[in-house]
Amino acid sequence: MSSDQLDKVVAVTGASSGIGEAIARELTDAGCRVMLAARRESQLKSLVQELGDRTAYHLTDVTNAQAVQEMAQATIDRFGKIDVLVNNAGVMPVSPLIDLKLDDWNKAIDVNIRGVLHGIAAVLPHMSDRGSGHIVNIGSIASIHAIPNFAVYCGTKFAVKAISESLRKETLGKIRVTIIYPGAVESELMQSSNDEQTINQIASKFSDVSFIPPTAISQAVRYAIAQPPEVAVNEITVRPANQEL
Ligand code: NDP
Repeated sequence: MSSDQLDKVVAVTGASSGIGEAIARELTDAGCRVMLAARRESQLKSLVQELGDRTAYHLTDVTNAQAVQEMAQATIDRFGKIDVLVNNAGVMPVSPLIDLKLDDWNKAIDVNIRGVLHGIAAVLPHMSDRGSGHIVNIGSIASIHAIPNFAVYCGTKFAVKAISESLRKETLGKIRVTIIYPGAVESELMQSSNDEQTINQIASKFSDVSFIPPTAISQAVRYAIAQPPEVAVNEITVRPANQEL
């Protein structure tokens, strides 16, 4: 392994597409052993076939605390430890609040907030026992700006920011915490919304924005986890150069 390679064990949630897939590729390329977690087996299976035996997958629904716990245990069983957890799984149902899409609101809360907490719960005792570890949470520009039609999504991502910062202060000097705020990234995220009218409005609002590839985010994750133990990169914003928000 050359000196710029990372000998870390990383678990990535939402690794079956978009940013999570790019993170799994990037970190495998960087020398890490990577557990890919998500629900769609066909995507995970073909990624692991492609990336090789430094990777494995575990079918995981992050809304289920027990399933996330089992994913963490499967990572330790396979690779011996967990150095880094990337809480990336997320959904983005969009709609004006007046539409009262309570099922969508609850889904966003379940995946984007509870999913992150389930990830933290699954690795924190292990990392605390070892006296080291790194938790990377994928927030959003929506963690720092409230946006019309994105109210619940913004609420969940503001929560991820608050949880990240509290976790950092609680685990100071032992566990490093990073939150990344992506702007507009090419992915399947819009497909997690079913409100065609709002999607079309958003698409026209963002029509001048040049969506960036998921590798722009995976490179930020690689940078954050590659730092020496005494250096914590706590927050990174990565957005298209022409995105105003
Ligand atoms: P994708 O829709 O491409 O990826 C979302 C991932 O989350 C998929 O792998 C999906 O896998 C997984 N996922 C969804 N629900 C669950 C669940 N219940 N349990 C486990 N995994 C789940 O979108 P992105 O790559 O864009 O999204 C990744 C993260 O980036 C999200 O947190 C999103 O909020 C954030 N983000 C994205 C931005 C963008 O512009 N794309 C901007 C800012 C932040 P599966 O369906 O197989 O379970």
